[in-house]
Amino acid sequence: MKNIINARQYYADVKAAEANFIQGAVKEYPNIPFFLYTGNADKIDEFNHFFEGSGFYFIGLKNLVRPLYEEAKKSEPPENGSTLAANSIIKSSYGAGISRIASVADDTGFFVDALGGEPGIYAGRYAGEPCDYEANRMLVLKNLSGVSGAARSAAFRCVITLCLPGAERTFEFVGESRGVILESKRGGNQFGYDPIFVPEGYNEAFSEMSLELKNKISHRGRAFQKLYDFLKEAVVF
Ligand code: IMP
Repeated sequence: MKNIINARQYYADVKAAEANFIQGAVKEYPNIPFFLYTGNADKIDEFNHFFEGSGFYFIGLKNLVRPLYEEAKKSEPPENGSTLAANSIIKSSYGAGISRIASVADDTGFFVDALGGEPGIYAGRYAGEPCDYEANRMLVLKNLSGVSGAARSAAFRCVITLCLPGAERTFEFVGESRGVILESKRGGNQFGYDPIFVPEGYNEAFSEMSLELKNKISHRGRAFQKLYDFLKEAVVF
């Protein structure tokens, strides 16, 4: 995996694309930016939090100059892939095309074994559109009624893809977190399926954990770690 990205060469490409970004978005070399394509501003903070101090950082839609931002929003591709990886690639390759720098995107699914893998890639819209966390959770609990103990197993899966525009290569980083689904929801953060999911080896639901602990053992945290391990090897300064 070594030598895939020559940092100086890549930084020259970033400088050539700098007019696409608002002033100050691109830091000085040897800080290395990637474009993160997501509609969710909190995700950029989450990526940057994980990569803090690494020299790698993420800029997103809000860092694009206004006309490009509007163009990007107008022609957003539908996430109509049949796998997490396909949807992640749709987003990262679109991001690379818009920003003209290497681009990253993630896609997460929630797979309940007793429901044949549902809601799977439709985790965000299981109970219909628009996304309603409470309705999604309630539907999972309802569909699992009569299923008990270890048979309530499930897994979160997160696929991060990195798209290098020049080389037109895509790399995938998959993180998984297995556990069981509770009979009823718990307190704490009410994000997605967190209040009804207890990861293997723990008694607390994801919702009851500190963000620090959740990020260490979560699907997304594990995918972040794989992306980071790859970049440490692949980017040659
Ligand atoms: P996305 O691909 O990150 O937008 O995630 C799709 C859906 O999966 C979200 O709308 C949530 O319902 C669910 N989800 C993703 N990550 C998590 C998590 O860490 N905890 C709980 N639910 C999550």
